[in-house]
Amino acid sequence: MRLFIATLSTETNTFCPMPTAMSGFEEYFLRHGDATREAPNLMTEALHVWRARAEALGWEVVESLAAIAEPAGRTTRQCYDALRGEILADLDRAGGADIILLQLHGAMVAEGVDDCEGDIAGRVRKLCPDATIGLALDLHCHLTQRMLDASDLVICFKEYPHDDASDRAAELFDLAYRTFTGEIRPVMRQFDCRMVNLYLTKTGAMRGFVDRMTALESAPGILSVSLAHGFPWADVADVGARVLVLTDNDPGLAALTAEQVGQEFFRLRHEVTTPLSGLDAALDEVAAAGAGGPVVLADMGDNSGGGAPGDSTFMLRAVLDRSLSHVATGIYWDPGVVRICQDAGIGTGLRLRLGGKVGPESGEPVDITARVMNVAAGLGQHLGKGLEPLGTMVWLRTGDEVDIVVNDLRTQVYHPEAFEQLGIDLSAKSLITVKSLFHFFGPFQPIAARIIQVATPGGTSPDFRSMNYTKLTSAYWPATETPFES
Ligand SMILES: [Zn+2]
Repeated sequence: MRLFIATLSTETNTFCPMPTAMSGFEEYFLRHGDATREAPNLMTEALHVWRARAEALGWEVVESLAAIAEPAGRTTRQCYDALRGEILADLDRAGGADIILLQLHGAMVAEGVDDCEGDIAGRVRKLCPDATIGLALDLHCHLTQRMLDASDLVICFKEYPHDDASDRAAELFDLAYRTFTGEIRPVMRQFDCRMVNLYLTKTGAMRGFVDRMTALESAPGILSVSLAHGFPWADVADVGARVLVLTDNDPGLAALTAEQVGQEFFRLRHEVTTPLSGLDAALDEVAAAGAGGPVVLADMGDNSGGGAPGDSTFMLRAVLDRSLSHVATGIYWDPGVVRICQDAGIGTGLRLRLGGKVGPESGEPVDITARVMNVAAGLGQHLGKGLEPLGTMVWLRTGDEVDIVVNDLRTQVYHPEAFEQLGIDLSAKSLITVKSLFHFFGPFQPIAARIIQVATPGGTSPDFRSMNYTKLTSAYWPATETPFES
């Protein structure tokens, strides 16, 4: 019995002007068959689970590529061909496999390939027509018919923030094993919810919806229920939320259940989305908040985890213009400033031109006079159980204890330790701003008096009423309130 495993993950913001190249994988995570020898991160958790389960059963495990890049623009063709080629060559060299499990993102777009995961699954199927093929996807994926046609099993994360990668990987392993032995014959059907938005699963109506999806998996004949939330910042034909249902050889039940769950999700559309503030309104609330711990503002428009550059200055400009004190703000991606600060050394006062460099989505650079409080390399921050890299980090102080964190590796803020490891005391702050959408939410909750999601401008601006889609052929909410009628 042979199990083949691999992961390839980046989430492509097709509106981002920065391409994703091999350097993006090299600087974030790139291993060639030995990723499970080190501690897991979000997209390698599955590999650890699959290897452990298979080895406990005495199976042979062939581990191939593990490649992860921070989201940016389209992956270059040369890079995509090399990564896809490595997976296929490893599979071919192994002489195929009985079960093939891939942890992919589901929203990777390369030059000339809008559906990389469907393309990979199709080529794997061609190489191994009789294998059981299972795909584990991030829920921020574009679920395509091509993925479903090429594989036997597809399941998505259920939780956002994503803390269930291991659980989903274990489920996929079980279903693949039962499929291989002939105990079940999975069929998959999807329903297009015609919705483009972001949905935090930990509270409110969305929590109830996810719990009902999970409960439905115990119903007779149903093997798995996923909600692919979709990834909004991509001009591809399959953008938007889809419900995916797997049944045991019952296509009618799969289609009906997918439609029923999808229609329920559509009915909940106003309740499952998070209320957002404008930047000025949010800062007015901070001024009115008083003591009781720091207010945390999410700089949603510049989340590099969604492919934004990570160097926008709209939030920083507003903080400085209002002369706010006791602020921590980050993480600004500016390798030039990092280099200058490294060369100057800790304790040096400098004039710096910070951020605002990649394009108009980044705003204007901000000129500051600041002191280099700390420089550190090799740090990480937790995302669920995994540890994500932070690059070389610089802590700058300007004004009245306005602490700015800058680094040279594009990453969103996941955890307070991104600030605290440098020596910044977040409990002494009245305001903390984080370039992130939702992943920071749980870890910051214990230290925050209040968290406000701010719809700042930028490469991941969460205004979904007017996206520049050219390939989507159906109407969608919130561009229209009634997408099923148009
Ligand atoms: Zn995601």
